[in-house]
Amino acid sequence: MHIEDLRQRLHELGANPRHQHRVLRLWSQALPQNHGSRPIEAFLPTTLRNALPEIERELAALATVHSEHLGEDGSLRRVVALADGQLVESVHMPPGRIPALCVSTQVGCAVGCTFCMTGTTGLIRQLGSAEIVAQVALARQQRPVKRVVFMGMGEPAHNLDNVLEAIDLLGTAGNIGHKNLVFSTVGDPRVFEALMARNEGQVRPALALSLHTTRADLREQLLPRAPRLTPDELVEAGERYARHSAYPIQYQWTLLEGINDTDEEVDGLVRLLHGKYAILNLIPYNEGEGMPYRRPSWEAAAALARRLHQRGILTKLRQSAGQDVDGGCGQLRARAVQEKGGPGRRVIPVQAAPV
Ligand code: SF4
Repeated sequence: MHIEDLRQRLHELGANPRHQHRVLRLWSQALPQNHGSRPIEAFLPTTLRNALPEIERELAALATVHSEHLGEDGSLRRVVALADGQLVESVHMPPGRIPALCVSTQVGCAVGCTFCMTGTTGLIRQLGSAEIVAQVALARQQRPVKRVVFMGMGEPAHNLDNVLEAIDLLGTAGNIGHKNLVFSTVGDPRVFEALMARNEGQVRPALALSLHTTRADLREQLLPRAPRLTPDELVEAGERYARHSAYPIQYQWTLLEGINDTDEEVDGLVRLLHGKYAILNLIPYNEGEGMPYRRPSWEAAAALARRLHQRGILTKLRQSAGQDVDGGCGQLRARAVQEKGGPGRRVIPVQAAPV
């Protein structure tokens, strides 16, 4: 389901733009449609009122809990069942200053990053814009959400219209600050064009770019079906958007032992990012069964972060607890798909790990 279709349906039921906004606001904020002190008879047309229970049921069925997994650090990973039975993952980040949720934008992913479980499945299907917002509505039934990062399963650039439609709703009726909506991509010229074309009246999200290496040849190996932007071109385009939006770019770097934690990469990062309006997020890889990479020790990762800091790069070392999509993305879903038996609501304590 797409948000535009929902708006059209509400319009056909007699809803004016204010009525539509109210329905979408209550849904995306996980509030019942009869919320508020005034009876809805006072201001909603009868045709719309009569249809609301069915619409509420349909919206609730867009995303339901398949299973939930509590991390030791307070993160909560959720396998979400879509109406057709497909599964995606959303993650409540560990409690922090701003309660954040990571959402999926596709079932599977076509980019095929060699360190990512989701990349092994290929693309299964796109998520509709309403399914993306439905993950937030579902999450808000349990915890507040004031920041949404589009770093779950899928490459948002490959589902651009739906992701931007979801961003527009979350940044208005959904009451999420625009800089707290984080569009994450491996880097696609269409994303830069679409975001740069947004004017001040539109929702302008922040941007996270998956860099992972400063070497063009290695990037082609690690992200085999990403657009052929070199790391230099990617940072150049990122810097333009950072200056345009006035939000720093978050560069994502999944740390793979012996692969992209070398002296050459440190020099490359200093060359690429020094003086840029940027934050570098180093995320030690989350090892997955059958995946060919190793996670560096925390001490080695911290030493690398310190070296970059000393050379003028604003670097954050992130615990792999849903901060990053790349490491263990899709592992829970893969496990759930393999499981025999029907879905049910379960809460399973697990070690914190990235989506
Ligand atoms: S890391 Fe992101 S872009 Fe790469 S395969 Fe996984 S989901 Fe797709």
